[in-house]
Amino acid sequence: MYATKLKCRSCDSSEALGNFYACQKCGGILEVIYDYDSIKKLKSGLRENFNSREFCLWRYRELLPIKDYSNIVSVGEGGTPLVPLSRTTKIFESKNTYMKLESCNPSGSFKDRPNTVAVSKAVELNGKYVIIASSGNAGGAAAAYAARAGLKCLVCVPEDTPNNKVSQALSHGAQVVLVKGSYSNSYNLALQTSLEFGFVNLTSTFLNPYTVEGDKTLAYEIWEQLNGSIPEWVIIPIGAGPLLVGAYKGFEELKMLGLIDKTPKMIGVQSTECSPIVDAFLAGDEKVKAWDKPSKSVASGIIDPLVGYEEDGTLTKLTIEKSGGTAIKVTDDELIRCANILAKKAGIFVEPAAAAALAALEQAFITVINPEDTVVIVMTGHGLKTPQVLIKPDYKAPVVESVEDLKSLISL
Ligand SMILES: *Cc1c(COP(=O)(O)O)cnc(C)c1O
Ligand SMILES: [Zn+2]
Repeated sequence: MYATKLKCRSCDSSEALGNFYACQKCGGILEVIYDYDSIKKLKSGLRENFNSREFCLWRYRELLPIKDYSNIVSVGEGGTPLVPLSRTTKIFESKNTYMKLESCNPSGSFKDRPNTVAVSKAVELNGKYVIIASSGNAGGAAAAYAARAGLKCLVCVPEDTPNNKVSQALSHGAQVVLVKGSYSNSYNLALQTSLEFGFVNLTSTFLNPYTVEGDKTLAYEIWEQLNGSIPEWVIIPIGAGPLLVGAYKGFEELKMLGLIDKTPKMIGVQSTECSPIVDAFLAGDEKVKAWDKPSKSVASGIIDPLVGYEEDGTLTKLTIEKSGGTAIKVTDDELIRCANILAKKAGIFVEPAAAAALAALEQAFITVINPEDTVVIVMTGHGLKTPQVLIKPDYKAPVVESVEDLKSLISL
């Protein structure tokens, strides 16, 4: 294993690679550090190692924090398709726009990335009980990996979480509780519970430091899928932003290892119903403030008010700034329109939070992206997570018996 320690992003102190959720000195966010010099010494051997393994996330295991590979809990996550937007959508002249279909992960969202790594690490550290706060998708993924690892799993989600996401976690045998209030209430409850009972906390809002390591593999895959080149822009729907921060870490590592010479500009996308990071970015505020208004949006996967962990939002904002990118917010109407375009013109069924990436692309083409730029939009979750969004709530497909019945229905 090339991972050496956990280091605080705020002060310089570090911890061993154990179950730590914050810097023991200052409470700052912890990050996994690697011995990059030794990895560099592998030279072409590193790429040979990658190539000798199947196209899934653990292909990049030199850059992941697991010591004994027999502890890896995997169902082939990652290795998701990177496909051109479409020939028919005509979204401006976006010739070089690709969709990274994270919806193709085994549990239907990118949350398999953080959870395969964090659950594997929990196994390595002898954890028996895992807990997670989630807006739904992370809970489904955590439940799946916990089931495979034989760990007990408790999932805390907001009361208004879409049914299918709750059913998914329940189907894997997790205990699921609906927590009153916003995602932040689930976050704080899971944190207190994990501290009181000594459960491993898988929450990816920068609490569990191993989750971001899973997220970063998105960058390695994009690099390989674009044949070693790097897009100018990567557009990611964000809650607190670990996927964006993780992906950027991946690109920075690739650069540090001498495999690329520039990093992409990151665009973080939020809903106008809850946009603490975008608002702080646009206002030029140093720190992100918690969102104190109620939020009602179909894009539940990206609704995170950050109450009690505002510094997580600040880290994401700083990462966007460092990359030279920007932050964009979109309305539910725009999201749904874009989810419809994806479903009806591109053949891709995603949940509303994911469609936010396309809505942001439309805006960014007007403001910052040049038509020639290569862009990757990350389709974070599958449409089957929220299957009713694009059809009328009471619509039922007609029941027929004969060609005669069909005649009145067919429009040529
Ligand atoms: C969790 C989630 C996001 C937000 O990702 P973060 O890394 O938590 O910022 C976006 N889209 C979907 C579908 C999600 O489930
Ligand atoms: Zn610290």
